[in-house]
Amino acid sequence: MKDCIFCKIAAGELPSKKAYEDEQVLAFYDIHPQAPVHILIIPKTHCASGAAEITPENSAVVARCFEVAAKLAGELGVAGGFRIVTNNGAKAGQTVPHLHFHLLAGRDLHLTMG
Ligand code: AMP
Ligand code: ZN
Repeated sequence: MKDCIFCKIAAGELPSKKAYEDEQVLAFYDIHPQAPVHILIIPKTHCASGAAEITPENSAVVARCFEVAAKLAGELGVAGGFRIVTNNGAKAGQTVPHLHFHLLAGRDLHLTMG
């Protein structure tokens, strides 16, 4: 989608520090990390602006994003303690309207939901 920064990152038009990539999914390090491990996992195509637009037609890539999260958590040695977050809508703190999942780990996460 035009003017979408995550579409541009997925297309290689903007730089990112990649953690994983395949045909459907890109994972890259968040530019403002909220935890020692903070990776964004995105569908490469702009199939949804956020979780509210997940449908039977586009949900396969959502499953793929979670597979990638599990793989990265294992590789990074945080499989015993990580969180996957998606913010939907400005009221929930979403700033980039391209479906994405935050993989957070490496600090104590169990006391907060934020
Ligand atoms: P959200 O607020 O849930 O929409 O998450 C968007 C995330 O994208 C934030 O955590 C930002 O720090 C992150 N972000 C924005 N621009 C970039 C970028 N160019 N490279 C990496 N992460 C980014
Ligand atoms: Zn996009």
